[in-house]
Amino acid sequence: MNKRRRIYEGKAKVLYEGPEPGTLIQHFKDDATALNGKKHSLIDGKGALNNLISEYVFVKLGEIGVPTHFIKRLNMREQLIREVEIIPLEVVIRNVAAGSLSTRLGLEEGSALPRSIIEYYYKNDKLNDPMVSEEHITAFGWATPQEIDEMMSLALRINDFLVGLFLGIGIRLVDFKVEFGRLWDNDQQVRIVLADEISPDCCRLWDIASGNKLDKDRFRRDLGGVLEAYQEVARRLGVLTETPRPRGAGPVLVTSNDGKPN
Ligand code: UDP
Repeated sequence: MNKRRRIYEGKAKVLYEGPEPGTLIQHFKDDATALNGKKHSLIDGKGALNNLISEYVFVKLGEIGVPTHFIKRLNMREQLIREVEIIPLEVVIRNVAAGSLSTRLGLEEGSALPRSIIEYYYKNDKLNDPMVSEEHITAFGWATPQEIDEMMSLALRINDFLVGLFLGIGIRLVDFKVEFGRLWDNDQQVRIVLADEISPDCCRLWDIASGNKLDKDRFRRDLGGVLEAYQEVARRLGVLTETPRPRGAGPVLVTSNDGKPN
């Protein structure tokens, strides 16, 4: 019987008390939601795929010096993470117009943006996560100007790295959402670290060869094949192979039917 104390339950994840103070267990559920929870389904196996994909991305980001909450994956559904105070903002980084940006500014989905754009949304389900400016963030005390600078510079580093990572496996990183948390070290100094997850649930990933969507838009827009799309991302990243890959091995090269690199 599972007697762990549940700290928080969100739409796609549950946080449990961790084995040591300052740690938590992040459990990935199979639930898929959209329209602020109004649309809901269970997609068998999605949680495990997101766990594997997010582990891979967080480990790689850690290796290039991006501080994260990730400690280690515990099993197919769960990761051990550091407990952080989540900053109540969704930080969205965009490279290509899509989704709400296309709607808001009348930009055709798929048109390249002049440069990467960062947006902030206030995490509040009752208000449907409204977009906010730095003025709102500092005036209402959700983050300090220094924390905004730190989040922005981390977000751009994460974006640069992930654009290249996904390009290497034939995928265009259109946009994605990240969350940050405050982590206290022993000297009670606060550090901003990447928290939550990075998976096809919170990214737009388009197959470069076909233009197919390999992300949650398949669920949001009733395109079908949600699990298959997530599996494809996991397979290309090399986290779905039956035999373990050697340590330090990079992403899997995408080849066309004739075996030549794309
Ligand atoms: N996103 C997310 N959670 C949210 C809202 C957006 O993970 O609550 C991600 C979404 O998957 C996309 C990016 O943030 O990769 C930008 O989303 P957008 O603002 O276009 O909103 P949407 O069209 O998804 O409502």
